[in-house]
Amino acid sequence: MIFDRAITMAPDRFHVIKLAEYTTWGIGGSAAAAAVNSEEELIDTIKFLSKSSLPWVVLGRGSNMLAPSEGWHGVVVLLKGQLAEFSFNGTLLTAGGGAHLPSIAGVACSKGLSGLVFAVGIPGTTGGAIFMNAGAYGSSISEIVEEVKVLHSNGSIEYLTAKNCHFGYRSSVFQKNDSIILSMVLGLSEAGGSSSELRREAKDILQLRRQKFPLHAPNAGSVFRRPDNGPPPGKLIEDCGLKGYKQGGAMISTIHANFIENTGGATSSDVMKLIEYVITTVKQASGITLRREIRLLEEMI
Ligand SMILES: Cc1cc2nc3c(=O)[nH]c(=O)nc-3n(C[C@H](O)[C@H](O)[C@H](O)COP(=O)(O)OP(=O)(O)OC[C@H]3O[C@@H](n4cnc5c(N)ncnc54)[C@H](O)[C@@H]3O)c2cc1C
Repeated sequence: MIFDRAITMAPDRFHVIKLAEYTTWGIGGSAAAAAVNSEEELIDTIKFLSKSSLPWVVLGRGSNMLAPSEGWHGVVVLLKGQLAEFSFNGTLLTAGGGAHLPSIAGVACSKGLSGLVFAVGIPGTTGGAIFMNAGAYGSSISEIVEEVKVLHSNGSIEYLTAKNCHFGYRSSVFQKNDSIILSMVLGLSEAGGSSSELRREAKDILQLRRQKFPLHAPNAGSVFRRPDNGPPPGKLIEDCGLKGYKQGGAMISTIHANFIENTGGATSSDVMKLIEYVITTVKQASGITLRREIRLLEEMI
């Protein structure tokens, strides 16, 4: 089996998961996984992985990730327990890298704290959001970052300011190194008045997203990044007449052309073929080269 090496080496540390159950596309074969519940456990696990030369990657909610249907030979590290907790101290929010972003955004709204309402429908972890600089409706997480605590692969811990995270559009310094986002402090603001206005805003955002996005089918959000110049990817793809275009079980959504739906039984190779077909077709029609926003698991090492 593809994941045998890690399991044979340390059956007490790792267990086998089906990646399809850990990604929102519902695609992916088997892999070895390590669920870690504290900073100490994580440091110990990373030390072991480095010593054993086993490839590894931190997986959040897999909402921006395509995992190979054949499975993966590396170890998927899952941040659980203390690493997924969050707490508020006045307007400051401290969250572990494995914390669920929409839940935190919801709690912040109920507390009358603004700054995170844009994230109520972004179905990832806070670590994944920092890594991707996730955003919506003109806001992104980088705007509220006070501090990010990271574990470097050499075992050292560092506290980074927002400036040192080098955030850009859906990008951060973490895409260029293999540091782990342990936790973060986010600065929110008192909304003033009651929390009901923020809660209404959150409800409106969720309703809008239900109308605009194909949330009925497994997907990974926007597949392509917005080009520097030119129309959004959804418009470029739609203008090529590709809505509803299928490759195996993967289909360009008829609701939003920048989404690929798993209509049932899609494989990672179906999705990749569709992505390549879209890139070629859009390039021929508009001269614009679309770039992927979604990440490939096997690319991460
Ligand atoms: C229905 C839907 C709607 C979406 N809408 C939006 C949207 O409006 N705006 C937007 O920006 N995105 C959106 N997304 C995409 C996705 O939710 C975000 O990119 C999210 O931030 C990814 O978080 P995750 O925990 O799922 O990361 P994953 O997909 O698990 O991982 C993404 C990358 O982050 C890395 N990573 C995750 N956690 C850590 C960590 N603790 N330390 C280091 N690296 C880490 C992984 O290794 C991987 O490279 C949407 C997705 C879906 C399915």
